[in-house]
Amino acid sequence: MLVNLHADADAAHTERSLRGLGLWTQRLADPEGQIRSLRIVAPSPPVSADTLSGVPGVCSVLATQSGHPLVDAQAGRPVVVGNAQIGGGAPALIAGPCSAESAEQVFAAAEIAAAAGAGILRGGAYKPRTSPYSFRGHGPDALGWLREAADRHGMALATEVMSEYDVERVGDVADLIQIGSRNMQNFALLRAVGRARQPIMLKRGRAATVEDWLLAAEHALDAGVTQVVFCERGIRGFDPAMRNLLDLGAVALLKHVHGQPVIVDPSHGCGRRDLVLPMAKAAFAAGADGVMVEVHPHSETALSDGAQALAAEELQVLASQIGVQS
Ligand code: PEP
Ligand code: MN
Repeated sequence: MLVNLHADADAAHTERSLRGLGLWTQRLADPEGQIRSLRIVAPSPPVSADTLSGVPGVCSVLATQSGHPLVDAQAGRPVVVGNAQIGGGAPALIAGPCSAESAEQVFAAAEIAAAAGAGILRGGAYKPRTSPYSFRGHGPDALGWLREAADRHGMALATEVMSEYDVERVGDVADLIQIGSRNMQNFALLRAVGRARQPIMLKRGRAATVEDWLLAAEHALDAGVTQVVFCERGIRGFDPAMRNLLDLGAVALLKHVHGQPVIVDPSHGCGRRDLVLPMAKAAFAAGADGVMVEVHPHSETALSDGAQALAAEELQVLASQIGVQS
């Protein structure tokens, strides 16, 4: 809760009165250093707006129960990503290889994505892998291939940053910075990425509640990120039949209740290419603004996630069925 003070109020006096009610306060000053408002902060006990209005010096009370006011403030606003947009009506298609494996592979995958009408190329230069012996990405070289491939087709670029130390490097080439599932609550990374003053795509942590996810986005926005696109990619379920449990209820909640920009990643959600199309359609039915899918020119030789990568024709079918113009 926030109390605004009368122009001639004695802020220190009002603060003492609030403390007398057992409340903890934080001072909010205007650019001249004048204290104009006091925020009631934890661990204050519950207090009504009426009680606060009666405190000497208080002019008005802003009662917000939300723990994520910055997230709330971005509701209903589309996210502009280079030449593309997420939200605002048209279905967004983000496509590309799981890993950027070579310049040739990236250029071929970008051609497939562009031909299907994807506005955003997505590929990994830094790959979070469960085993240290799996392919972990080509790093800075791959960033160069990805940017060049995106530029060839006038596409925007999304790519993941895994470390605070790489934020500047990744921010320089990416239009949309991806924070991966494993880093959703890496608060140091979320705060460092704020320094890039760019939009991010925040993938849901595998064991994160929707509230955890919203509050992680709040951290990023508080640190300077301009907009957060939420990406549902499945949570860990009990059933090994599917790679993850794609939570489309959370997508409906984020879109229809919270008004947030939200996309779905059915590739990691299911882990199998034959289920990517049905779950992409389900994602839009639930309210998603877009989908992010993996493609590969030769998935049988892919260095990561070959089983879920779509071929060119499969991406074409998906794009036309979700209403993307190629
Ligand atoms: C990815 O998007 O390439 C990825 C590794 O996904 P996640 O962080 O959702 O596991
Ligand atoms: Mn992948």
